[in-house]
Amino acid sequence: MYDLIIKNGQVVSPEATYAAHVLVQGGKIAGFIRGEELPPAREVFDAQGLYVLPGIIDIHVHFRDPGVTYKEDFGTGSLAAVHGGVTTVVDMPNVNPPTATVEAFNLKLSEAKAKSYCDFGIIGVVFEENIGELKALAEAGVVGFKIFMGETVGSLPSPTDGGIIEAMKVIAETGLRVGVHAENRTIIEYYTKKLKAEGRTDPVAHVEARPNIAEAECIARAIMFAEQTGCKLHIYHMSSKEGVDLVGAAKARGVDVSAETGPHYLLLDYTHMHKVGSMLKMNPPVRALADQKRLREGLLDGTVEAVATDHSPHTLEEKTNDDIWKAIPGFCGVETNVPLMLTQVNQGWISLNHYVKVASEGPAKLFNMYPQKGSLLVGTDADFTIVDLNREGEIKAENLHSKNKVTPFDGFKVKGMPVATIIRGRVVMKDGQVLGGPQGELVRPAR
Ligand SMILES: [Zn+2]
Repeated sequence: MYDLIIKNGQVVSPEATYAAHVLVQGGKIAGFIRGEELPPAREVFDAQGLYVLPGIIDIHVHFRDPGVTYKEDFGTGSLAAVHGGVTTVVDMPNVNPPTATVEAFNLKLSEAKAKSYCDFGIIGVVFEENIGELKALAEAGVVGFKIFMGETVGSLPSPTDGGIIEAMKVIAETGLRVGVHAENRTIIEYYTKKLKAEGRTDPVAHVEARPNIAEAECIARAIMFAEQTGCKLHIYHMSSKEGVDLVGAAKARGVDVSAETGPHYLLLDYTHMHKVGSMLKMNPPVRALADQKRLREGLLDGTVEAVATDHSPHTLEEKTNDDIWKAIPGFCGVETNVPLMLTQVNQGWISLNHYVKVASEGPAKLFNMYPQKGSLLVGTDADFTIVDLNREGEIKAENLHSKNKVTPFDGFKVKGMPVATIIRGRVVMKDGQVLGGPQGELVRPAR
């Protein structure tokens, strides 16, 4: 007797799409079969006309727990995730207290365990002062680390270049990957001051204050440090064409550097700010069409391994300001991710198979969660995102499940939507309804 059979669907791997019934036992994938005859099962999910994707993973979310929960918490964030077809998230450390010690890690873990509807990995933060804690954090169960090389929401102090090099030496020994928020602070400070002096307060001034070179210089520096220390490097939310070229060149000479980009960088360009203003304010900013084009190419040719959203909710009040300098950067992403990207699949520039590679397998591999997550191998977690490629809808901010619902994609028409979210064999969301309470678990890194 199987616990669950997902019957009649088209199973999608990075390599192929094939008709199969999926057998699930004890929360794990038990096998794939074909034919008319089904073995007995407690529950049968009919996926006729639907695609069965390995669970979609968002490796960049800010669920704000603990300490900044007026914006979002692990309950509302993960509810948004499962509504959006996301089975696993990786949560960022710029919370209060920041995830810089084992004690802070355990605090976040207990909040997340109590509230999360999806599985989750936790990232540890690197400061100048906690380099001595990094090994203990790795042992406690973080899936990776993050260094904020520029200013952040929460104003976490960036380590010095010396501190970054020392931290990378330590992290290299853990086998984990360190991701960087790559923006050169002094370049941005210079242009911000200049634009303010010119009296600029319009939305596009934010983009001009953070030119491509501010990201590119920082990526180049981080790559050099990683190359010298042997530390695995990840570029968070890559936004520039120069970034794609730098990461591609480093990969070609053997550096273990990976990159992610987000739906906003892949679908929009900065002119969308004329329409939605500060709602699109994000660090790094959404840039020109030439950047979008190069990021799409990088995603397709393997230079960019992951699509992740940088889901970062703020209150409408914090987001709304006629003076762009006073509006906070960031917006919701975890719930709109899958429908927006499936719409791209329908538009034809990315295949469904390649989408699975960059939204499930790739992200899991980068943060040591593979093959438990992100694979279709027998014996691994039975996480699936079931999608209807023909279903059409409209993204409406008011319908999102986050605590605060700002999105620059409000009003976007989508074609291709998640219709069920299955986590460790449990149907957590079906047709927009969430079934059962929060049963998310920590994903520990594979070694
Ligand atoms: Zn960031």
